[in-house]
Amino acid sequence: MGMRQWIEGWPVYRQLAGPDRTARGAAAKSSGSENWHARTEDADKVVRSICPYCAVGCGQKVYVKDGAVTQIEGDPDSPVSRGRLCPKGSASKQLVTSPSRVTEVLYRRPYGTEWERLSLDQAMDMIADRVLATRAETWQDTDDQGRKLNRTLGFASLGGATLDNEENYLMKKLYTALGAIQIENQARI
Ligand code: SF4
Repeated sequence: MGMRQWIEGWPVYRQLAGPDRTARGAAAKSSGSENWHARTEDADKVVRSICPYCAVGCGQKVYVKDGAVTQIEGDPDSPVSRGRLCPKGSASKQLVTSPSRVTEVLYRRPYGTEWERLSLDQAMDMIADRVLATRAETWQDTDDQGRKLNRTLGFASLGGATLDNEENYLMKKLYTALGAIQIENQARI
């Protein structure tokens, strides 16, 4: 690269010698940044979704290329968030694509010091066995005055704010059918 070329490539020279005197446009661009483009431009499709992190339910646009999520941004058409996402929602691509995302059931036994990997079937069977045993051990037909209770205080449910309406409906139905009465959600507390 010659001296003249080097000087002309210098942003301060371009700012002083060219029309962009405030250096907020062409003067501040390098050849590298001129070739940059948004990764959303390459997407094969855009899928509308809802941020899974909290009960605000901000709208998201999920950009997909070759079957993989390449970017997640706020949806300007959402009446809830009008294109905005908080830092957590803005980082939700990592929830899907992070190599440290946990995709297996991890179990630490009582007094255990290590996590064990379980199959989903085994974990579900263990949970079902414990719920049934606890229900049988703690079931209350009546109170001490003979009034009907038909309940258990042996287990409770505390749902997270990322659960949607349908999931909350099904959880409430399940726990009520099992006889639980302490059924709550983090978003109500
Ligand atoms: S973007 Fe932030 S405020 Fe909106 S739903 Fe997600 S976590 Fe909640």
